[in-house]
Amino acid sequence: MRIISGIQPTGPLHLGNYLGAVKNWLELQRNKNNECFFFIADYHSLTENFEPKEKYNQILEISAELLALGLDPGKSILFIQSQVPQVTELAWIFNCITPISFLERMTQYKDKSQRQSQNVNAGLFTYPVLQAADILIYRGEAVPVGKDQVQHVELASDAAKFFNNRFGEYFKIPKAILTQTPKIMSLLKPDKKMSKSLGADHCIFLSDSPAEIERKIKKAVTDVGPAKNQKLTTNNQQPVMSPGVSNLFLLLENFGDAKDVKKFLDDYRAGAIKYAELKEVLAKRITDYFSDFRKKKEALLKNSEKISAAYSQGSKKAQKIASKTLGEVKRLVGLRK
Ligand code: AMP
Repeated sequence: MRIISGIQPTGPLHLGNYLGAVKNWLELQRNKNNECFFFIADYHSLTENFEPKEKYNQILEISAELLALGLDPGKSILFIQSQVPQVTELAWIFNCITPISFLERMTQYKDKSQRQSQNVNAGLFTYPVLQAADILIYRGEAVPVGKDQVQHVELASDAAKFFNNRFGEYFKIPKAILTQTPKIMSLLKPDKKMSKSLGADHCIFLSDSPAEIERKIKKAVTDVGPAKNQKLTTNNQQPVMSPGVSNLFLLLENFGDAKDVKKFLDDYRAGAIKYAELKEVLAKRITDYFSDFRKKKEALLKNSEKISAAYSQGSKKAQKIASKTLGEVKRLVGLRK
């Protein structure tokens, strides 16, 4: 199966990016039947507020982080979106077959245009069209993403269907694939997804120091009652966990061992849980889990040529496939003989 997914270079990776997407990328890369394409979505990142002076370092940092986590240019095609400019040509063609009303429905566009009300640029609006081109130019079939991206993958499926109906069957219809943890919540506002745009203390970054991890988890919200739209059913007569607590348990299930989870669940059910203790164990487990990663990232950043080489090799492979698709699309559309 052809797998494709990307990540924006807007800062370091956080636990939401890891558990929602990148962990899945590593598993998919292991399966020899998959052809994986993973890219740094630098064009997409221009739709948000950014500092030109910081952008290149952000690209380099996230490129290093993906390598440090185990993405392997020998197994997957790793590339930088803007190094394959054909994608913007395909996006233009998709722009001309995508109804505006479909883009107006996008919840990310609505959220982001409220958050950056001084910068509601056209790129923010047509972002899902570029994303459709990102997927379809490599004839992608499956897109491993977090829950917040599912609507965009559906738009890519719609773009493929519009194209096929108008110009003849050409694209396969892509679908999203989710992990068991498609939405990790903010530490401080657990009714919202973990996101850099809420602020650094809402997230744990994979490269945070042990002291930072401990400090952030100590501040994490625990019992504040159920979320507004959380179902109030009780599960086997157990009290409903508040969203902050259930987020911490979710992290413990992923980074701790079964013994940790059992102990704190038993305490929770008995009404005897000490959150300070849970937080201490969780901070330690996350610190240990990413200790190797932190060292590898540092080493890679000292050797930026190695990082660039890994991605430029992938960019060349991606360009070849993208050019082929674009040539065929231009013929189908009637731009070429
Ligand atoms: P982005 O940083 O928006 O480029 O997102 C990169 C990937 O991480 C996408 O597949 C997102 O769906 C995923 N992601 C971002 N935030 C979260 C979160 N809080 N929980 C789960 N997945 C997430």
